[in-house]
Amino acid sequence: MLVTRDIERTRKAVAAARAAGRRIGFVPTMGALHAAHVSLMEAARRAGDFVVVSIFVNPTQFGPGEDFDAYPRDEGGDLATCENAGVDLVFFPSVAVMYPPGAVTTVHVARLTDTLCGPHRPGHFDGVATVVTKLFNIVQPDAAYFGQKDAQQLAVIRRMTRDLDMPVEIVGCPTVREPDGLAMSSRNAYLDPDQRSQATCLYRALEHARSRIQTGEESAETITTEMRGIVENAGPCRIDYISVVDPASMEPVTRIAGPVLVALAVRIGRTRLIDNMTVDPRERTP
Ligand code: AMP
Repeated sequence: MLVTRDIERTRKAVAAARAAGRRIGFVPTMGALHAAHVSLMEAARRAGDFVVVSIFVNPTQFGPGEDFDAYPRDEGGDLATCENAGVDLVFFPSVAVMYPPGAVTTVHVARLTDTLCGPHRPGHFDGVATVVTKLFNIVQPDAAYFGQKDAQQLAVIRRMTRDLDMPVEIVGCPTVREPDGLAMSSRNAYLDPDQRSQATCLYRALEHARSRIQTGEESAETITTEMRGIVENAGPCRIDYISVVDPASMEPVTRIAGPVLVALAVRIGRTRLIDNMTVDPRERTP
């Protein structure tokens, strides 16, 4: 496994793999790697790709007062995880490599970012869209793998690549959960034991929504009110949002007549957790 820290060497390594006839599969991450990240690497491996992982805690997607400084960092552990997952190349840039002084260009994806996390994290999706554009230009992948756990991010990146004609296939991968349903996240490490058990309320609320929608409830307001009850009953928290939206446009839905994305963001102590589920009212699960 090769580890690069600058743009030129990264481009050279990727060009050599492509010259050898390999398709380039790319998994952008912020490190503190866990089983969900590995599932994205495995998806790329299964596709037969030359697998490139980037590890970069991107400062521009954190707002003032957010957890950029506290965000978990574990270079040694992350490199071992990549090695074990059969990754071919890890791009591990510093902030100085990614943002040399004087950069003034950003990428903004409109509309899709007006709902859900957008209003609660001003500038976040500009930071994401800009860094992903830069990483795509550095790595020049054929395919890039993103988790459905960050459904709005996935939608933003799909739209950005389409709108800007980026020649990258975007592959969405299913959310990986702990046995009790909590979506895996590097931020779960912030939770103390009581908060960790409280945190299962997000998944329980989503499962409740799924079952209500699939047994005929059509009112998004009824669904979100019931979800709010489940989350508030679990313990002290601050709900950023609980929403039912269109899975492509992220626009709010009032009457549920087709597939919807049910999404929520909840702060438990200082930890902000997000989760979501795509629910099709025509599918019934036992
Ligand atoms: P992060 O390191 O949190 O920026 O995440 C890097 C990639 O892993 C993103 O595409 C995330 O959507 C994805 N990811 C993180 N957690 C999960 C999860 N529990 N299930 C699926 N994908 C995930």
